[in-house]
Amino acid sequence: MFIFVEKEELIKKLIREGYLKSEKVIDAMRSIPREIFVPKRQRKFAYEDIPLDIGHGQTISAPHMVAIMLEALNLDEKSKVLEIGTGTGYHACVASKIAKNGKIFTIERIKELAEKAKENFKNLKIKNIVSIIGDGSVGLPEYAPYTHIYVTCSSPSIPDVLIKQLDEGGKLLIPVGRIYGDLWLIEKKNGIVKKNLGGCAFVPMIGREGYNED
Ligand code: SAM
Repeated sequence: MFIFVEKEELIKKLIREGYLKSEKVIDAMRSIPREIFVPKRQRKFAYEDIPLDIGHGQTISAPHMVAIMLEALNLDEKSKVLEIGTGTGYHACVASKIAKNGKIFTIERIKELAEKAKENFKNLKIKNIVSIIGDGSVGLPEYAPYTHIYVTCSSPSIPDVLIKQLDEGGKLLIPVGRIYGDLWLIEKKNGIVKKNLGGCAFVPMIGREGYNED
């Protein structure tokens, strides 16, 4: 009951602050319990608008960032989405509720996090997420093209290989920088249009098109 009230308060705050705008994103965020995606010791902070530690030096994104990204992506019921950086799966679950007749492919390089995410998808009975362990800095060419690709870790650049895996009319959302950077929206429509959506902070993308492990 307490958790339910806290979640509603967070949703109202995100609406008031202008991060949550559309009914589909609001309903999707309302339907996913963020507390199950964080370790037990962090549960009391689940409805604070902050990133939280999920182990392995990684974080679950702050709710306002999930809202900004999903509003910018504007997924529809049939979207075929690639998420790079599953973490424990929160953002993928929210996206899966919007793309309810579509599919979310999500790739994570840390096996333990990908396994925790799979457990969360199963517990929430979410069937339209395909979870993969691997280096997402090169995308996931075997299932391409995607209507939408979004990246939840900071990349040194906008990898061409990701633009290639977008459908015509598709959108790529990617933080560029090392931890602190800018969130870029790339649209593939009669060429490429790039828009800077503003500053953001994410853990670094590690991999072939990302940073080295150190
Ligand atoms: N989407 C997550 C959520 O719902 O909270 C956010 C996870 S965290 C901010 C970013 C994740 O990207 C980390 O779990 C990290 O291990 C992962 N990552 C970093 N580089 C990656 C790569 N090359 N391929 C796949 N995942 C990567």
